[in-house]
Parts: sequence; structure tokens; C-alpha cells
Amino acid sequence: MTVTTRFAPSPTGRLHVGNIRTALHNWMWAKKHGGRFLLRIDDTDAERSTEENVESIRADLRWLGLEWDGEARQSERFALYEEKFEQLKAAGRVYACYETPEELELRRKVLLGRGLPPVYERQPADAPIPEGRTPHWRFRLDHDTPIVWHDLIRGEQRFDPKLLSDPVIRRADGSWLYMLPSAIDDVDMRITHVVRGEDHVSNTAAQLQMFEALGAPAPAFAHEALLTGSEGKLSKRLGSLGVEHFREAGIEPAAIIAKLARIGTSDPVEPYADAQPLIDSFDFARFGRAPARFDEAELATLNAKIVHQFDFAAVADRLPDGMDAAGWEAIRPNLQHVAEAADWWHVVRGPVAAPALSDEDRAYIATAIDAAADIEDWATNPWGALTGALKEQTGRKGKALFLPLRQALTAREHGPDMAALLPLIGREQALERLRNAAG
Ligand code: GLU
Repeated sequence: MTVTTRFAPSPTGRLHVGNIRTALHNWMWAKKHGGRFLLRIDDTDAERSTEENVESIRADLRWLGLEWDGEARQSERFALYEEKFEQLKAAGRVYACYETPEELELRRKVLLGRGLPPVYERQPADAPIPEGRTPHWRFRLDHDTPIVWHDLIRGEQRFDPKLLSDPVIRRADGSWLYMLPSAIDDVDMRITHVVRGEDHVSNTAAQLQMFEALGAPAPAFAHEALLTGSEGKLSKRLGSLGVEHFREAGIEPAAIIAKLARIGTSDPVEPYADAQPLIDSFDFARFGRAPARFDEAELATLNAKIVHQFDFAAVADRLPDGMDAAGWEAIRPNLQHVAEAADWWHVVRGPVAAPALSDEDRAYIATAIDAAADIEDWATNPWGALTGALKEQTGRKGKALFLPLRQALTAREHGPDMAALLPLIGREQALERLRNAAG
């Protein structure tokens, strides 16, 4: 059987870091097994679903590099749901209900008040149908068989169906709720593994009975512990962190993938620029039950480490005009984000402002002009030659030797390795900068 997973977002908003993680794990599991990863747009809620959200979900997945092998939309599959609904109704697994939300709420309160679980109470078959009411529909759980499954993350799960409410699957206006269409689609699309958040665990209990009622084997399930923010509690902020935010912050898709592939597992988060090793080592058995902590500061650090690994070809189309492989390699170790390359390239190409130096340092730089002019082989290691000569001539060493030169040549106090930078700045420009700094 081909391993087939699906990512099933409801297009009622943008993707956030929590559902990006779910998408990623589904994608990785399929990739690991040479299987298929499907995108299923759960747009049964016509009022809250928007086309704009569908587009942004697709764009976000593409930006992350999570290409999908097939796509479906629930709103185009109503005929299939209708057919299965009729079958389940004929089999007595789906039944009509007439309570209003107010009546249901009142029953709930009464049960809770008596210290009982607020489980939906079925009406007797011969109960009178209140006049003028259109029914909504519930799935009838089989109360006699305990629900048991082996969750790939949570281990054995057990539910007593008597403690679950028969789930509402269809509203009075005919619209579908999430539960049944999802089970029908999982069967129809031959989904082998459902990977989703642990907020769906009790849905799974009911859906397992739906698979059975549909006469189909159930997929395997992996329910993941949810994400928490850096402050250790469920944070609202996580819900608003999406691709747009990461993109603006200069975070690479590879960093998001490296992070989200591993947090919540017993494997360390490591700066992989390529997803393959992460896919190879991906395993639900490595996931813990505790909430996974997502820390933006850690993501930024991971991002920098990944940027430092990118080769020129991987970033060439995002670099400033004229920047070549030597330029990228010189500047790369100093970057937090690829976009900062432009800034450093500007330092290489100039013009740069003359730094404010002390009289003593200006005199030192004046010496450096002659030393630089004397260097014959500018192509090999001009920085080594320059600092070597100046050390001998002036007796300066360490910071006193290097810093005024860096300031004069780049107008900055920190930056990429001068040995890599100076050949890029070039002889003529270096001399000109030294002259300007010497005043
Ligand atoms: N549309 C559902 C959600 O976003 C899908 C859950 C599932 O993966 O089955 O929660």
C-alpha cells in the first residue's frame, strides 16, 4: 500500500506555525516512504472559507517547499457525502435530531449540575417531532464496543463510547460539519496515515466508528502534542505567526523546516540546509507527549547557521547585482539573513564614508597607505601582507593593529573576515579609502 498522507486545512484563515508543523510532518512521512502527500481543502464552512485563504495556503506551502501530489476540495465533493450519508441513514447510523441549541444547552447544564458527564441524550424513537422544525443529523455511536487504537505518538488510546456524544455531522440547512466528510475522504483518498494535533483525539474516537460504518479500514493515527510559545504556555502569538511573518523576518524555509521537524521529539534541533536527512530520521516514535516549545529567538539562531551553509547557487537569484561566489563566500559567515548580503556588498563596492579616527590612528592609517601601495601581489593575501608589514613597522598588534584598518576600509567596526573582504574591495579602492581615512 502506498503511504498516503493529507494536510487538511480549513481555509478560514492563514496557516500558522502550528498547522505548518502538521503539514510538514505529513509531507515528511510521505517522502520518507516514497508515498503521496495530498492537500485537502476542508471548505465545508462556506461562510468562513475564502478563496484568498485557499490561495495563501497554497502559496505558503510552495514557499516552504512542501509540494503536494494531489489536491481536493471538500466543497466539490458534496455528492459523495450525500451518497454515504444516505447509506448510513438507511443503516440506522445517522439519525435526525430536533433540539434547538438552547434546549441542548439547558440539558447540558442540568447534567453538569447533577455531576454527570454532559453527554448528548438520544430521544426515544417515538418521541413527537416538534412542529415546524427541520432536523439536523447525528452519527449514532455504537455504545457496546470500547474504542481502542494504537496511536503512533500517544500509544494505546481507549474511549468508552457511552461517554461520548453522538457527533452532529450535518446542520439543518444541509451543510456538513467536519467529522463525516473527513472520514469519507480519508477512505476515498486511501489515506494511510492521519497526522494531526492532539485536539482531534476525541474526534478520532468517533471517526473510527465512522470508518467501520463505511465498511472501510481505518488509517493509522498520529496525534501530536500542541505547540507552546517560548514563555511555556499556549500563546496567542503562535496563532498569528505564519509564513508572511517569517519571510519578513528573513527566516529561510529550511530553518522553519529544520526547527519544526524536530521540536517535540527526542532528536536535537540541528541546522540542516536540506530536508533529506530530516526526512530520513523522521519517526513518530521519537515524539514526546509534552507540548513542544517553539522559540522565535532559537529559530533566528538556527536560521543564521543555515544561511552560513548555503552555497552561492542556492542564493544567487537573491543577491545584489554583481555579487559573485567569492563575494558570497566572504560575506556569508557574517549574515543573519540572506538579505543582509546587499548591505555588505555595498560596503565592498562603496563608496563608504571616512570613519572618525583619533589623530594617532590617522597617522597609523597614513603609514598603511604606503604599506598597501607596496603590496605587489594583491590577488593572493593582501590583508596578510598589509598587517604583516604594519606590525613590523609600527609595533602595533591585536586590536590596535586591525581595528583602525577595518574602520578605514569598511567604515564599520565589525564585519566579515578582512582577509576575504580586502581582495573584493580591490587595490585602487582600498588605497582611496585609506587616503580618505587618513584625512
Ligand atoms: N480541517 C481540519 C482542521 O483543520 C482537519 C483535521 C484533520 O486533519 O482531520 O482541524
